[in-house]
Amino acid sequence: MQYLLSKLKDVPNFPKPGITFKDITPLLSDKKAFKQAIEIFYEEYKDKNIDYIIGIESRGFILGAALALQLNVGFVPIRKVGKLPAEKISCKYELEYGYDELEMHKHSFEIQNPNVVLIDDLIATGGSANASISLINKLGVNELYTAFLVNLTFLKGTDKLNTNKIFTILDI
Ligand code: AMP
Repeated sequence: MQYLLSKLKDVPNFPKPGITFKDITPLLSDKKAFKQAIEIFYEEYKDKNIDYIIGIESRGFILGAALALQLNVGFVPIRKVGKLPAEKISCKYELEYGYDELEMHKHSFEIQNPNVVLIDDLIATGGSANASISLINKLGVNELYTAFLVNLTFLKGTDKLNTNKIFTILDI
């Protein structure tokens, strides 16, 4: 864990004053750290009969695609509004100032009532994860697990998630 932590870079005042951005790119570019992170997720989910990994745009795509390959399951994207080409469902959620919106294709699952893992690089307030959970539940799933590489514990996002199936690697 110490090794993974050492590969997170704090970027002060990004994307706006007062926010410390946790940059995961040094962790991704380090082959040992990237592999270690994916193996930790793999160990958590390998015996849970997972059918799909669902990644939240955009850093959730990087971790999610790697984990999907490792688990030998499919990958499904949740994208920012306006990016998905086919029939989709949308969920708006509140930000500090204003709203954002996430979307998912209606035809995302070929398997009926699949077991899925929703993954993102980081949970802050939990807003984007909760919007994603409501999209996934609209499509219908059996088990819904959530996974995050980094948990900003001071924001208590995990307390606000509409699930208790939460796995986080770095609680900081
Ligand atoms: P939230 O919806 O508030 O839980 O925010 C989580 C999403 O915003 C994730 O996709 C993160 O990648 C991104 N995010 C929020 N805060 C930070 C932060 N301090 N550093 C890096 N990414 C962040």
